[in-house]
Amino acid sequence: MPVPASRFADPPILVVTDVAARLVRRGLLTPADAAGGWRSARVIVFRSGPVVCDPPPGTRGIETGCVDLFRGRSYVSAAPMTLALYNTLTRRVEPFAPLAPPRVTLYTCGPTVWNYAHIGNFRTFLFEDLLRRYLAYSGYDVFHIMNLTDVDDRTIKAAAAAGKRLEEHTAPFVEAFFEDRDYLRITPAHAYPRATQSVPAMVRLVERLLERGVAYKGEDGSIYFAIAKFPTYGRLSRLDTRELKVGARVASDEYAKDDPRDFALWKKAEPADEQVGAAWDAPFGRGRPGWHLECSAMSLEQIGKCCRTETLDVHAGGVDLIFPHHEDEIAQSEAATGKPFARFWLHGEFLNVRGTKMSKRFGNFLTARDLRDQGVDAAAVRLLFWQTHYRKALDFTDEALAAAAAGVRRLGEFYERVKREPGNGKREGRLTELAAKFEIEFRAALDDDLNAPRACAALFELVHEGNAALDAKARGAAVARGALDRAMAVLDVLPTAKTADTELEGWIGARIAARDKARKSKDFKEADRIRAELAGRGVEIEDTPSGTKWRLV
Ligand SMILES: [Zn+2]
Repeated sequence: MPVPASRFADPPILVVTDVAARLVRRGLLTPADAAGGWRSARVIVFRSGPVVCDPPPGTRGIETGCVDLFRGRSYVSAAPMTLALYNTLTRRVEPFAPLAPPRVTLYTCGPTVWNYAHIGNFRTFLFEDLLRRYLAYSGYDVFHIMNLTDVDDRTIKAAAAAGKRLEEHTAPFVEAFFEDRDYLRITPAHAYPRATQSVPAMVRLVERLLERGVAYKGEDGSIYFAIAKFPTYGRLSRLDTRELKVGARVASDEYAKDDPRDFALWKKAEPADEQVGAAWDAPFGRGRPGWHLECSAMSLEQIGKCCRTETLDVHAGGVDLIFPHHEDEIAQSEAATGKPFARFWLHGEFLNVRGTKMSKRFGNFLTARDLRDQGVDAAAVRLLFWQTHYRKALDFTDEALAAAAAGVRRLGEFYERVKREPGNGKREGRLTELAAKFEIEFRAALDDDLNAPRACAALFELVHEGNAALDAKARGAAVARGALDRAMAVLDVLPTAKTADTELEGWIGARIAARDKARKSKDFKEADRIRAELAGRGVEIEDTPSGTKWRLV
């Protein structure tokens, strides 16, 4: 029974198996329960036959599994039709749709390169990596921009303390950030605009705001944004402007202001700025950009260049940026363009260490390179982070990291097993069915505001049941491998391949040659002894028609 595509027009809709549908028809299960706890979901239940036998639109990889999947199997599965994301702007999970599909413009606030980024910062960057990869998995063409804040109060202070020019101080930290990004397998952004290289765009934005009368020059020579001229100020952070406390970044700024809520767009050059080379000429006076202005100018410049638009589809960052940074970005951008700045605002929660937010200020911070130097597999860090939803605080402990590392190893073993299993050219079998069930659940989980913990649970269920199926000589390993490969394009948590140094490689080659010689002379006892010797150093061997292959385990 083909299902017309129009039935899927109003998201979110769930697909349930016929077992669940039968129970709903008999009144033994409510549609809401069949939906497995999904909020405001619509369940399609037909009078007879399978519930949905066509793959949901946009779902890939379950074409062959679909018929099997719904042929009277005894499990319940639910698959929402569209990606829904929690939008900080509306405080709701909303169906996601970009302005000009399939293009999605994504801007994420990048690191301030005054020091090494700690893993709390990287939790945010990893959540953004998950978002970026899942958008791509969902068929979107993502243009991702991440800025590098290489001039602001902190970078200037740090450069001055080190007795260096600004670019001299920040350059090694920019390099370190890229190294850490690669270690953690974060997909590089399409553009990394640097604040110091985008000053002309910042100057133009300030001019635009001055022309529109929402910016003014203070007595101190700096340019400020007049919040009173922007009535929707505070919409993102739900801030009651009357309650704004001194101590927030805007109020604790050193410059005098005629309104304590106004924030600096352009700060008049001080001797300290000149000393490190952080001052530029502008028609409204020599100075340097405020941090908030930088992001507005760089994002508008980049999306204008790439996509001729002034509205971002998604803007993301850590929760600590909601106020004042993102609030100020909205004010500056919308006051200048008259258009919405970003349609979706996504914010990732903190990483805690011993119950306290990790920060350089509290001295409880750990950098990505600390983990790398300790030999921690990046896959374990990724899995650990995926196991907590991005909107929940995550406690980082050695125990949790060790558990994630064990999970990564288990997954790697299963993947190797599936890879080794001959496909027999046949796609049907228990593993096909498990793979189809997994992909539906995987997609349902991530469509639900990037519910990675649920996606990981489905992944490890596949590992568990898949191992049992392989023990029972089930077929369909090639399909299971395809499903794993697609999921890994998003989660990317397979163990890092171990590499041998030249010395070890030479030793392995010599031992394998000695074993071949022993086998040829029928000395199997010696051959077995050499195999055990290799295993003792973590080398697994396999005899194939084209010779003996080895790998490190
Ligand atoms: Zn920013």
